[in-house]
Amino acid sequence: MKTTSSFLLLALVGIASAQDVSVAGGGHGGPNSPRKPLVTSTKLQQEIHSSNLVKHAKQLVNFSKLSNGTRAFGSVAHNATLSYIKGLLDKTNFYDTVYQTFPYLYSEGSATFSANGSSYSTSWFTYGPAGDVTAPLVIVNDLGCEASDFPAAVVGKIALIQRGTCEFGRKIALAGAARAAGAILYNNADGAIGGGTLGQISRPDVGPYVPAGAISGLDGQALVASISGGTEIVGNIHVVAVNENRYTSNIIATTKTGDKRNIVMAGAHTDSVPAGPGINDNGSGTATLLEIALRLPRFSFTNAIRFGWWTAEEFGLVGSGHYVTTLSEQEKQKVAIYLNFDMVASPNAGHFIYDGDGSAFNLTGPAGSDHIEKTFEKYFVSAKVKSAPTQFNGRSDYGPFLDARIPAGGFNSGAEGIMTAEEAKWWNGQAGVAYDKCYHQACDGIDNLNIPAWIVNAKGAAHGIATYAQSLKGIPREPRAPAREVQATKLSYDQRRHLACGGEIFSA
Ligand SMILES: [Zn+2]
Repeated sequence: MKTTSSFLLLALVGIASAQDVSVAGGGHGGPNSPRKPLVTSTKLQQEIHSSNLVKHAKQLVNFSKLSNGTRAFGSVAHNATLSYIKGLLDKTNFYDTVYQTFPYLYSEGSATFSANGSSYSTSWFTYGPAGDVTAPLVIVNDLGCEASDFPAAVVGKIALIQRGTCEFGRKIALAGAARAAGAILYNNADGAIGGGTLGQISRPDVGPYVPAGAISGLDGQALVASISGGTEIVGNIHVVAVNENRYTSNIIATTKTGDKRNIVMAGAHTDSVPAGPGINDNGSGTATLLEIALRLPRFSFTNAIRFGWWTAEEFGLVGSGHYVTTLSEQEKQKVAIYLNFDMVASPNAGHFIYDGDGSAFNLTGPAGSDHIEKTFEKYFVSAKVKSAPTQFNGRSDYGPFLDARIPAGGFNSGAEGIMTAEEAKWWNGQAGVAYDKCYHQACDGIDNLNIPAWIVNAKGAAHGIATYAQSLKGIPREPRAPAREVQATKLSYDQRRHLACGGEIFSA
């Protein structure tokens, strides 16, 4: 499936480029359509209306209801999001649009633990299996890193294991090998264990995983003291979890017109975190690019425009990484720039432009990224809205493009960071409050959108796309050095998940 769809994409792009040389510099809506006006920033901005943006956002909210309030990748709601985008694009007959489909592991869950009537603050381990176990607790010797640490009494019981020395996954699999019914791991410091992982989906060489949870060191020590004192403690572990491979898709849409040797690319991720519907993160970017794509057929342009709606960004830039790594070197060279829009309608909005020239944060993008930053700076000046730089650290879908040395840029309206007093004056916002107080939560719904900020940003996205569709002046177009390995794909599953928007672990 993976190979087939990638080949299909490359084949389509290849055919299109061969045809397109004759119309480069012109641009027609179709073979028989009358000549259209060349796109300009002003004209495209005039096409962007908040009512249409909100209409798309409401659709995404409705889709989220199909999947218990989430649009996480692989869910019915996420697939409905993709069908909605592709359906609207296909109606325009203006794009070559493909699904780029591939499988990726989905792992999500939560755990609770109670014992002798008290409930404990408990965290789940990534990859941990679902289950419900009620049984007495049995203390495991030493640190539970060897099969011999598990006493015979643990059969059918809940193994109580201290953290340390070996991986969580080994301890939980050894508990399974010892035929324990479940396991509770307690920290080797007083506090809680947050965001733990079993490290691998399974460990057949060690044993089967059992339902497991993690509690604080203080809670664990208290349980050990009671049990050692002769008290029987019956515990209940309840784990809700889904661990499965899911097929999911990027949508790649390229204008049939414009020079496909010089592609202006813009992208936004379509998936949400499991915890919520993701209407600001990133329904806002998704809808912004969709609305621009639906308005472009009124214009002609010099350079081809390609949209990437990325899947599974929240699991670590998975869709954008897949796209970049499966694109041939020749096709990568044709992508002149990449513009990223991830969270553009935050309720307590800032206007943060990626620091492509490295002037503020000393992380400089590929040559041309500086030009993109200036293009957006000029836009915000023209819109009479203050802008500020934000670190160009690769923690959204532009990361894989940086690895491919493709100049990139974009802006966002802020995530879990707290607005300062100075910023509150710039943006008429609330000091001491997060830019998005519903970041990665169930409340990231329609009421979480800041419509005035969104319209400024959507027009800003239109400005960037129109400017570069007209001319790539200022962007180096000599062949670039071959891509570095895409950094995100070299990371472990858990490290990748830290790369999601804002870089938080949402399973913790
Ligand atoms: Zn995001």
